[in-house]
This record gives sequence, C-alpha cells and structure tokens, in this order.
Amino acid sequence: MFRKFRILLLLLVLLVVAVGAWRAKVRVTSWENPIVAAVYPIAADTTPETTTFIQNLKPGDFAAIEQWLKAETERYGHRLHVPLRILLAPQVKAQPPQIPREGGVLKAIVWSLKMRWWAFRHDDLGARHAIRRPHLRLFLLYHAATPGKTLPHSTGLKEGQIGLVHVFAAPEQTAQNAVVVAHELLHTLGATDKYDPRTLQPLYPEGYAEPERQPPLPQSLAEIMAGRIPLRPDRAEIPENLDKTRIGRVTAIEIGLLKVGGN
Ligand SMILES: [Zn+2]
Repeated sequence: MFRKFRILLLLLVLLVVAVGAWRAKVRVTSWENPIVAAVYPIAADTTPETTTFIQNLKPGDFAAIEQWLKAETERYGHRLHVPLRILLAPQVKAQPPQIPREGGVLKAIVWSLKMRWWAFRHDDLGARHAIRRPHLRLFLLYHAATPGKTLPHSTGLKEGQIGLVHVFAAPEQTAQNAVVVAHELLHTLGATDKYDPRTLQPLYPEGYAEPERQPPLPQSLAEIMAGRIPLRPDRAEIPENLDKTRIGRVTAIEIGLLKVGGN
C-alpha cells in the first residue's frame, strides 16, 4: 500500500515537472515577449590566453546573435523589437558535469538531470543585472585555441532550457563561436539537429537554407541546425559567421516561429 502511494507520488512529481517544462517552452516560443538568455563563461583550461579572454568579455560580444535572431524572426513575419536579450554573467569557477562520450539513453538522462542540478547551483547573474531568472542559461566553456585542436561536443537541452557550449578563447574565433552558441540556443528552444550524425552532411531538404534552389548543390548558406554549408554530396563547410546561416522552415516550426500550414 505504502509502496503504491510512493509510486503515485513520484508519478505526480514527474507530471508536474513535465507540465512545467512544457508551459515554460510554450511561453518562451510564443515570440510575443523578448527571450532572455544568460551566458556564463567558464575557463576549460588554465592558460593565460583563456583567462585573459574571459576577463575581457563584454556584453556586446554577443550582439551578433541578438541581431541575427531579430533578422530571422522578421523574415518569418514577426515584428518583435527585441526578440532576444543576452546577458553576460560573471565567470563561473566550477566545472560542469562531463557529457558522456558514448552510452545509452539512460546515461544521457542521468547527465541531463545532473546538469540541471549543477546549473541551478551555478547560475548567479551577479549584481549587474536586475533580472534574476533568465529563460535560457548557456554555459560557455572557453578553450585556448591551439592549432589543430577540436572541441568536445556541445549540447543544448530543451528540458530545463540549458546549453553547454564549447568555444575558443580567441578574438578571431568570436564570429564562428556565435554560430555554435546560436545552434545550441535553438536546441534549448526545441530545435533538432538537421545533419547526418555519421557523415556530418546536412540532410536534404530540412538541413538546407535554400532547399528550393536549382540545382540544390552547392549552397551558399548554412541552415543553423545543420551547422554546415552543403557544397557537394560529400562535402560541407562550417560557416564563418552568422550572416552565412539561416533558420530553415522545419527549425522555424520547431521553435514556434512558423505555424504548421502557415507561410
Ligand atoms: Zn546540435
């Protein structure tokens, strides 16, 4: 009897959490009010390069993402003056839980719960901002840019609306970092990846910025959730900045910018 009661209680808690998350997503993706995203810089290493880069970060370093999203929402007929505001939080000194390199769904779920708990404990926006509770929280892990270095996989969680994003601590990488941050930001709003995970090639048509173009290849822009500009069936390149990316129709539907059946 007691056991049944406990299970019922647990189910109830899960239901409340699920409904809460769903309502938060609906509210954020109605595109009627500005979305407030906080970015929390974290040093992934102890090099002077990374330390200095983080110290010199300014709120304006993320303006390109705000402007890009404004242009994209306008393209889909929305007239919000400021669709996205990005707030720069003070540096977080702790390290987030590591994303599991492989493993099943269970490992991913456990990591996602750990990450949400960790985010809850490390999301202080500091005294500079009046807002205490942003809609989205993006933790940016800065790595020194050594030649040939590849970054660990970034991730954005729709549940909890948290992103963990690996970026380079180098001024010349800021424009490309913005592409990665925008991609993960849209994941937190419910957008899905639009590339083949084995080949990293964008999927046709949903991973193409201009799928109606004839011939479809080569494209000159990247769909943001495909992350690459398709050039040949076996070749696609990473866009150098957000100006070379667009939100495609399927992504627009997923994040509420476009209603199904609309134009
Ligand atoms: Zn992705």
